[in-house]
Amino acid sequence: MDKEEDARWDEEIDKLICDYEEKTKEEKNTVITWDQSDGFKMYKPTQSQRPKNKEGPKEGTTSSILNKESDDPDVEGLEFEIQKLEEIVNVDTEEEDPTAAQSVDAESLTSGWLARQAHVTEKWKEARPEIKNTLLASKFPVRRLCQNCNRNAVIRCRECLPKQFLCSDCDMAVHKHFVLHNRDSVVDQIFNPICPSVRFVETAAGHYAIKKQDCLLPLDLPQTICSCSHSNIKMIPGKKVILINMNGCYKMYLPVLQCAACEYRWKVGLSDVIRSGYWPATVSFNTVYSVDVLSNFQNIKVTASDLSRLAFLHLIDNRTLEFGRTGSINRTTFQRSFLEWVNVCDEVNKLH
Ligand SMILES: [Zn+2]
Ligand SMILES: [Zn+2]
Ligand SMILES: [Zn+2]
Repeated sequence: MDKEEDARWDEEIDKLICDYEEKTKEEKNTVITWDQSDGFKMYKPTQSQRPKNKEGPKEGTTSSILNKESDDPDVEGLEFEIQKLEEIVNVDTEEEDPTAAQSVDAESLTSGWLARQAHVTEKWKEARPEIKNTLLASKFPVRRLCQNCNRNAVIRCRECLPKQFLCSDCDMAVHKHFVLHNRDSVVDQIFNPICPSVRFVETAAGHYAIKKQDCLLPLDLPQTICSCSHSNIKMIPGKKVILINMNGCYKMYLPVLQCAACEYRWKVGLSDVIRSGYWPATVSFNTVYSVDVLSNFQNIKVTASDLSRLAFLHLIDNRTLEFGRTGSINRTTFQRSFLEWVNVCDEVNKLH
């Protein structure tokens, strides 16, 4: 039953994306044909073809120049990777504008371009040892102080730049509000990504212990919930919710506002979720997506047709692990929710 339902949703999504593409086709002046891959119909510009230069780099390209200069096996390995990347870039360039070479003086353009690329390659080669050493050194934390209060830093958060090193108290104070920041622990001799639901506390012996903390989903909350003074309102964790954005999954709680005077409790509703820029995975919103995830998926289906739905979700799942969190996206639920989002956006756009 799941497979049949899956196939039906695939068809519906294909149709919706096809309609969307039809609307934008004239603006973009692109021609679309259809192909079948990984359970999805893919978009492919008819004028573009798959890689044409599989044999290797062309004579006179930066790759061929690099190859002539390399003797060191390590350098050869790195340059082989660069060569492969360059081939990919060259293929993309051809696909983006297949007629460009015909409309200009190809010979003079090519020689000028090659000279510039050779210069750029030489500059990269000169800088590479310094870049490599800096990158290696940056993997290991030196003893750092909190950039707010000069106590020992336990956290590095690059999303808090320019003040990226924080002590346990400053970490809690800052990331209570910025719960979606991706932090690294610096208490060991290497940077370790840690999930938002843990923090460090300093023990009496001067060591650090890990303590759990509740992360509340950032939402547009009401200013008042009752007629009592605002000082009586307290925010506490409500039901569990999973947030999925382009950085992966976050296990969080929905905030509940509670009045200490009259004991009224305000809970998050579906409209609050949508108004705050999320989209529910189901109407009970135990999981919510950042709308970016849905719009990026739609754009990818239109502009980078070879990337499938499963590959897209796999990419986001990898981000979850990379930042020290756990969880994975339910493929079927995502598909169903995406379909609803496309439908509703379409309806809303008609009313504009
Ligand atoms: Zn931060
Ligand atoms: Zn501090
Ligand atoms: Zn009250």
